[in-house]
Amino acid sequence: MTEMRRADVVIVGGAAMGSALAFFLADDPAFRGRILVIEADMSLARSATARSHESIRGQFTTEVNIRLSRFSLAFLRDFRARLGGDRDIADIPIREHGYLYLAATAEGARQLAESAALQRRLGVPTELLGPDEIARRFPDIHVQDIRLGALNTDGEGRFDGSAMVAGFRRAARRRGVVFHEDEVVGLERQGARVTAVMLASGERIACGLVVNAAGTRAAEIAALAGIDLPVEPRKRFSWVFRTARPLRGPLPLVIDPAGVHVLPEGRDGRHFLCGARPEPDLPAAPDDFDAPEEDAFWLARVWPVLAARVPAFETIRPMRFWVGHYDYNTHDANALLGFHPALENFVCMNGFSGHGLQQAPGVGLAVAEAIVHGNWRSLALDPLHVGRLQRGEKVVEKAII
Ligand SMILES: Cc1cc2nc3c(=O)[nH]c(=O)nc-3n(C[C@H](O)[C@H](O)[C@H](O)COP(=O)(O)OP(=O)(O)OC[C@H]3O[C@@H](n4cnc5c(N)ncnc54)[C@H](O)[C@@H]3O)c2cc1C
Repeated sequence: MTEMRRADVVIVGGAAMGSALAFFLADDPAFRGRILVIEADMSLARSATARSHESIRGQFTTEVNIRLSRFSLAFLRDFRARLGGDRDIADIPIREHGYLYLAATAEGARQLAESAALQRRLGVPTELLGPDEIARRFPDIHVQDIRLGALNTDGEGRFDGSAMVAGFRRAARRRGVVFHEDEVVGLERQGARVTAVMLASGERIACGLVVNAAGTRAAEIAALAGIDLPVEPRKRFSWVFRTARPLRGPLPLVIDPAGVHVLPEGRDGRHFLCGARPEPDLPAAPDDFDAPEEDAFWLARVWPVLAARVPAFETIRPMRFWVGHYDYNTHDANALLGFHPALENFVCMNGFSGHGLQQAPGVGLAVAEAIVHGNWRSLALDPLHVGRLQRGEKVVEKAII
């Protein structure tokens, strides 16, 4: 990569976050620098981005996450135009099947009602449904143990995350961003500044600013700069399965109180995707995709929950299984964003803990504006600023799936 031995901004990681940021930076008329994205594997095969469930929802329990998600929704609905109308960029349809949170206890129902009130105040039309209403609208769902459900179908569902990343990349390249496949293995520091990025190929890139968009490897990149970042990879299991016969009615993305979620995969009413976290939920190496306990876990902890909730799921056959990692922020399971207080020119986009794909447009724009203009502009993301770690503050999001 001889053409760029110096970059004004080096972004480490070119998946959802790195690509979104690269686009918004390059698109800002006030930004004139050279942007270089270093991505270890351009196929993104092992990234959280490629292994996610590609879903978006407004049903969060914190104002900042609700606002971020609604911004991203508006952006995705108008994706191609917002990226400049390039004919080679795909539109991103959202399959708005909705999310249905179920509560089986009085406390769970109280929390759903409280969250729905906040969501409605912020423009998310969440409905609260009693068991009879749930059964009427979704006849396959077993509701005898359920006290309350929270449903929203406006802008909640599945979208094509790969198309989003491809669109950001293409639009960023058109604006002069260089994407380079290599691995960042070192950061040079002088005092409170990072001055250069060292690559596995042996190359050294002098830089004005470094952005950590390394997902599940965020703590490794921070450590290269001498910073301790509480982000660790946590395995998440996903199965696609098929029913013996189509369901009687539609199914939204259902979040079962027993800790399993399930959503439609395709449109034939017979294929579904479900996800669960292993127990115990321990940190893993970012390149560890093994799951020796998968079969036993499916039989003991996943299938019984699915079959109890949707009787038609008693006769199902898993067709595909994969392991992905959450970029889990152990401090408070929320994004860590912005200039790190310990360094002058080190920016974080980390710790998304399972809801990062949908936040990429909003976070990309907000962090770009923070870099170019020195403050949040379009979206006030101060609650998610990485500086809360030092202050011991937490942003507690109760709706982590
Ligand atoms: C099973 C599962 C389901 C999910 N479902 C959803 C969902 O429905 N909705 C949602 O919004 N979010 C979901 N998420 C979360 C979402 O996928 C992530 O939060 C988001 O994709 C994070 O994007 P990222 O770009 O920050 O990180 P990543 O996608 O992890 O990408 C980081 C990139 O950095 C690169 N990199 C790392 N280290 C280096 C280095 N040293 N040098 C160069 N490159 C490097 C990696 O190769 C990688 O491509 C899910 C995650 C999982 C695992």
